[in-house]
Amino acid sequence: MPAHPDQSPLERTLREIFGFNEFRAFQREIVEDLVGGTDAFVLMPTGGGKSLCYQMAALHRAGVGIVVSPLISLMKDQVDALRASGVAAAFYNSSLEGDEARAVLARLHRGELDLLYVSPERVLSESFLERLAQVEVALFAIDEAHCVSQWGHDFRPEYAALGALKERFPDVPTAALTATADPQTRDDVIAVLGLARCRRYVTGFDRPNIRYAAFEKQRPFEQLLTRVLKHPGQSGIVYAPSRKGVDELAERLRGGGVKAAPYHAGLGAATRKSVQERFIRDEIDVVVATVAFGMGIDKPDVRFVVHYNLPKNIESYYQETGRAGRDGLPSEALLLFGNQDIVMARSLIETVQDRDQQRIELHKLNAMVDFAESVTCRRRVLLSYFGEQLDRDCGNCDVCLDPPQRFDVTVEAQKALSCVYRLRQRYGIRHVVDVLRGADTQRIRMLGHDRLSTYGIGRDRSDTEWHSILRQLVHRGLLMQDIANYSILKLTEGSRAMLRGESRLELALPRVREKKAAKRRRAAPDGPYDAALFERLRALRKRLADEEGKPPYIVFGDATLIHMARERPRDRDALLDVTGVGLHKLDKYGEEFLREIAAHGEGGAVDEGE
Ligand code: ADP
Ligand code: ZN
Repeated sequence: MPAHPDQSPLERTLREIFGFNEFRAFQREIVEDLVGGTDAFVLMPTGGGKSLCYQMAALHRAGVGIVVSPLISLMKDQVDALRASGVAAAFYNSSLEGDEARAVLARLHRGELDLLYVSPERVLSESFLERLAQVEVALFAIDEAHCVSQWGHDFRPEYAALGALKERFPDVPTAALTATADPQTRDDVIAVLGLARCRRYVTGFDRPNIRYAAFEKQRPFEQLLTRVLKHPGQSGIVYAPSRKGVDELAERLRGGGVKAAPYHAGLGAATRKSVQERFIRDEIDVVVATVAFGMGIDKPDVRFVVHYNLPKNIESYYQETGRAGRDGLPSEALLLFGNQDIVMARSLIETVQDRDQQRIELHKLNAMVDFAESVTCRRRVLLSYFGEQLDRDCGNCDVCLDPPQRFDVTVEAQKALSCVYRLRQRYGIRHVVDVLRGADTQRIRMLGHDRLSTYGIGRDRSDTEWHSILRQLVHRGLLMQDIANYSILKLTEGSRAMLRGESRLELALPRVREKKAAKRRRAAPDGPYDAALFERLRALRKRLADEEGKPPYIVFGDATLIHMARERPRDRDALLDVTGVGLHKLDKYGEEFLREIAAHGEGGAVDEGE
């Protein structure tokens, strides 16, 4: 062990147990608060490093840290990861057999545990509360704390009762942690849990490592396949709206040579479990799923999330794309949307009975559409929806990387609006485009629309361009689409000013794919590394993980392997300097990884890895 004489006890733990060289923003402050007995409310985005805060604080206080977490599958994962780092952790929930449960409780009473993960129902049972009164409790950590509040989007009644913990154990420091809570929800969480004197740590919603992109569907499957094939061997999730759609897409991806599998509620529990398991173990690369997939998994190295259809609202979109890149490495969120999606979603909302709810859902859908069609930095649109302002463009979304061309469409807008007028405001987008483009169809001849003055005045623009122009006119309120009435186009107040030539309009040229020429830098954040060595280390990781029956990321995360492939450590000390390598893992896996790196030899060329 190299000497680091200036290290504080916290830094030592960070390095020796977790294998990290420095704290991330707020982590140290939060740990210090908890260790000192102060409660903390923590709002950090997914992947921000919340768990480390209470895990470390528990190690620096006497007694056991009690972690309340709603998702049983995630508990097991966290406990596995902690044990792999040499921490005495266990969980106590309904998935345990009687013997196993008794063994865990015995360890609790013998004071052998650093951390115990418990479901909310269990922690509040009278018998468990009595047990807690008999042992020393280091702290309480309430994960997914927004579930406490009725204002949040995921209220769970059993969670609301967790305020009882503070009443029973007023002197035990408590941390409430969440990745989603608007200001109202935050106050509510704090009130319900009785954390009136807590310190609040609120970082933004931003996930800077996720690159957002949105494209209009042209040939959507090809757009999807191109994107997926850019990530051979990497993990991704594709969301599609229906079971049938999910099955079809998975099949076609397999036809395209992708290790893909479908996942939806119609598949039966055993199949679903197996898909999830193989995904976590890197045996399936792409899961095509309805939104049901992703709740119970904590796979940190999902490199891309694709939406094959427009989500209903930005909250869902943010939550689903948030499953990418929990490990902080570069990841992508791709949205493919078509006008059909929007029309369908609107008509679904039309069937909602409750007027208020209908209004809210429509508003949320419109915000989602604005995001999809945005011609300004997408991260700005996304964050401003959550009430956060970026002071500059992000440089890591499709709009920033490849700004859309804008053009003056005043003349086109006038042509389109007069065409709608000539058609007596009785036809939908498709027909209007046909008339503008001078399509020679039987329907047009039958209706006599080839004799209109606006017939064929838009031949100079393509079908796609006209569709896009008309849609953007709708989104700007210059046309109204009557959803309840076959989506026919009608003029609005704004149309008149445009037709009278009193206003001008600039729109973005529609885009269906990324510009080929746009050079995309995909090197890791800290520079290039030996991609071939990375693949070798990945294979070694997979073998070791299989031997233990654990997911590969429990052995080491991608960030650790990339770091190794860049620095090529030659001895134990150098290996310990690699991020994610602590003493326990050094002893357990160090030799094998050092041997693999040495075997790879000096000669390996340094490529730009991804
Ligand atoms: P959250 O609970 O906020 O979603 P996690 O605690 O799961 O985030 O951490 C996300 C990732 O960041 C994990 O892979 C974790 O190991 C890593 N991580 C956490 N803290 C640090 C740190 N100080 N330095 C480097 N990596 C860290
Ligand atoms: Zn941007």
